[in-house]
Amino acid sequence: MSRDATPLMQQYHEIKARHANAILLFRMGDFYEMFYDDAETAARVLGLTLTSRNNGGAAEVPLAGVPVKAVTEYLRRLVQQGFRVAICEQVEDPRLAKGIVRRAVVETVTPGAVFEDELLDGQRHNFLCALCAAGAMLGIAAADVSTGAFRLALVPIDDAAATLARFGPREVLVARGSTGPHTHGVRLNGVLVTEREEWEFDFALAREELSRRFAVHSLEGLGLAPEADPAIGAAGALLRYLGELQPGGIPHLMPPRLEQGSTVMPLDEMTRRNLELVEPLRGDLGDEGHAGTLLSVLDRTRTAMGARLLREWILAPLRQRDGIDDRLAAVAALVHTPVVCATLRGELQEVRDVERLAGKTAAGRATPRDLRALGDSLARLPRIAQVAREAGAGGLLRTVLDSWDTCDDLVGDLQRHLVERPSATLGDGDVIASGVDVQLDEFRALRDGGRDAIAGIQATERSRTGIASLRVGYNRVFGYYIEVTNANRHLIPPDYQRRQTLTGAERYVTPALKEYEEKVLGATERIETRERELFDALRARIGGQVSRLQHAATRVAILDVVAALADVAAGEGYCRPELVESFDLEIVGGRHPVVERMMPRDRFVPNDVRLSPDARMMIVTGPNMAGKSTILRQVGLIVLMAQMGSFVPATRARIGLVDRVFTRVGASDNLARGQSTFMVEMAETSAILHLATRASLVLLDEIGRGTSTYDGVSIAWAVSEHLHDRLGCKTIFATHYHELTQLADELVALRNYNVAVREVGDTIVFLHRLQAGGADRSYGIEVGRLAGLPAAVIARARAVLRLLEGEQLVAGLAQRPEAGPPPSDRVERSAPVGGAQLGLFTAPDPIVERLCAVDVEQTTPLEAIRILGELSAAARARPVQS
Ligand code: ADP
Ligand code: MG
Repeated sequence: MSRDATPLMQQYHEIKARHANAILLFRMGDFYEMFYDDAETAARVLGLTLTSRNNGGAAEVPLAGVPVKAVTEYLRRLVQQGFRVAICEQVEDPRLAKGIVRRAVVETVTPGAVFEDELLDGQRHNFLCALCAAGAMLGIAAADVSTGAFRLALVPIDDAAATLARFGPREVLVARGSTGPHTHGVRLNGVLVTEREEWEFDFALAREELSRRFAVHSLEGLGLAPEADPAIGAAGALLRYLGELQPGGIPHLMPPRLEQGSTVMPLDEMTRRNLELVEPLRGDLGDEGHAGTLLSVLDRTRTAMGARLLREWILAPLRQRDGIDDRLAAVAALVHTPVVCATLRGELQEVRDVERLAGKTAAGRATPRDLRALGDSLARLPRIAQVAREAGAGGLLRTVLDSWDTCDDLVGDLQRHLVERPSATLGDGDVIASGVDVQLDEFRALRDGGRDAIAGIQATERSRTGIASLRVGYNRVFGYYIEVTNANRHLIPPDYQRRQTLTGAERYVTPALKEYEEKVLGATERIETRERELFDALRARIGGQVSRLQHAATRVAILDVVAALADVAAGEGYCRPELVESFDLEIVGGRHPVVERMMPRDRFVPNDVRLSPDARMMIVTGPNMAGKSTILRQVGLIVLMAQMGSFVPATRARIGLVDRVFTRVGASDNLARGQSTFMVEMAETSAILHLATRASLVLLDEIGRGTSTYDGVSIAWAVSEHLHDRLGCKTIFATHYHELTQLADELVALRNYNVAVREVGDTIVFLHRLQAGGADRSYGIEVGRLAGLPAAVIARARAVLRLLEGEQLVAGLAQRPEAGPPPSDRVERSAPVGGAQLGLFTAPDPIVERLCAVDVEQTTPLEAIRILGELSAAARARPVQS
């Protein structure tokens, strides 16, 4: 800090020193100013003009400012870009200040702690997560300050990335220096990582803090056993951080709920992405749009709470039958009563984001309109319950309705106190209804009386002066005035005092006018004060009931999700899956929920898939574009949908509960990730081999593709053996290496399937039908032809293929060594890739090339004769080959 700094800049430096890691918005009158690096960052990120300010004797200081009125938009952009922003206000009235106005940071907004709806995506939670590792376990605390949601999870480090990805935090707190080994494997791309002191994660401190905060004697009361320590430590650090960000506290944070790792299926990033659960594979840019995802098909929710919950359900399928059946029974109840379902969804449509409104209310941030919206939304609760009961209250519906709180008292309080359409802010029109407060009504009568009297003045003055165009008006600067046009100026009486001159008129006041004005303005001021008092009291009363509001919001959300799932199920012809504890998986007439929506109805070809202990591995072969990936993904999606409690796109589905679904896509099918290295593919495959159990479903799509054919086939071969022999899990392996079909000779529980194509002359037609047996060939050349490769290239490819096939490339592959060297050794010995020997690189025959290039149908007879002449000349000119 410069010694010659002006007092203002000294104050700035003092405050900035305490908020060094945030962009400081420094309130100066009608602007928030940023200085130094902050100014330069803001200029870059927000496109503001960079100016400078003279700092006393010191050098010029870079400066950028935003108007107070527009701050929300700038704040949104800064936070979206992952910046932390500290808002420093003037905390005393500048008119009363002696010297420099006192200033203080009243709030810090960071990507992980945002209240304002304007800054948030209503469709998803905005989680701040804290991570605390202990041994092989990772504790995760996740809080959304806008809704008060507070979750704890305790997971093996191996599952950490999957669990964290499910919360999808915008910001993550970690102990200083722990980003190395502790959070190893957790991908933190695009997320603000905030380092905190290690002691803040202390278990004992955290226990104390949690007990105090949620007023419980022991944390067992919150369902937190000592084993949950890492999660508790994370919660402690998170609470402390929130306390710093919001000196006013977060009164609406719900008691934390510990997620039992065993109840929820962890979905790793690859599976989430490849099955396109909530975001499409292409287009991780831009946060907008989930078109082409499972979420986009299922999201028929009507409320923001419902949309958020649906997203959570999709990302956290259940592992236990009871929970799943509970949800399915509720969906079924609404599927069977379509009219009830439609009515219910109509009612839900009118419900605003009660969860976030409740949070804002408790935090003292709700505007008059927010409170009114809250009241109007709550007012629908009785009707919603009444409608839902007509569905027969199966499963989860019963649980929800049995604990339904209609919040009548709160609705009454809100509706009695607030006018029907309150102004957006206080002091900008009526907020509190009449008849609520005697004092307020009196002030209003005074104000209205004064206004009437003033209106009366216009009439009396017109007749007194004889100026018919005389009028009484009001503006903020001069108050009430009498306006007379210049043409009538000579008629004004002597008691008129001039206040303002306009081009065509003059404005005057009279003592009588001023007297009423004082009455009106005095009353207006008192009305404002009184309204503020009443409003604050109302907001505090309602905010005090935040847990009831959150409870109600949760129930509305569940109804909304269940109704949405029922609506999709009925509209798209889904069936209720039967969940069983056994191993079997049986899908009859299964469809891909997203792909089928991209084509005309009934164009999608349904397929059956059956897996059982003695037929637990499926190899699906077929040419490119046949539909292998689609089959594979549809099985994954159907299982996940079933376990989240949704109906599934099939005519019948019997699903043995799975503990996890793994999906891996070979490197070249995975271009969207931009890192199509074979290494990544192998690392991911290796993770499956370590994590999968017999109860898992493993979906492998073209694994081994990222390397040469021989390596690829060998790896795929070995991976299949391992999955089949050691893990015994359900596996579907899609591959265009038809060589792999020979695996069936070795692996007893492996079945070959192929996706049917029909050869029509030289070309093929995709039937998209799965059938038993391996594809005998790849049809790659036919696909190339369909894709428009030139005829000459196709002909040459056919010739090369014949040569290659003659060499019996994969001879010996099927003879699996009992123990010892992997099959790849044999492959290389028995089938050397000597391209030149196969004639791959001998020069093409110009005569054949020319012949192939002829499009007979487009050739006139005359031209044909000319070409024939050319060719025969060329042939005769050629030396005879030995
Ligand atoms: P592959 O993985 O065998 O190359 P895909 O699964 O990517 O093939 O499918 C290619 C295209 O074929 C899909 O984009 C879709 O348009 C179509 N398709 C796949 N399966 C079906 C089906 N069962 N019914 C209708 N069209 C399908
Ligand atoms: Mg594919």
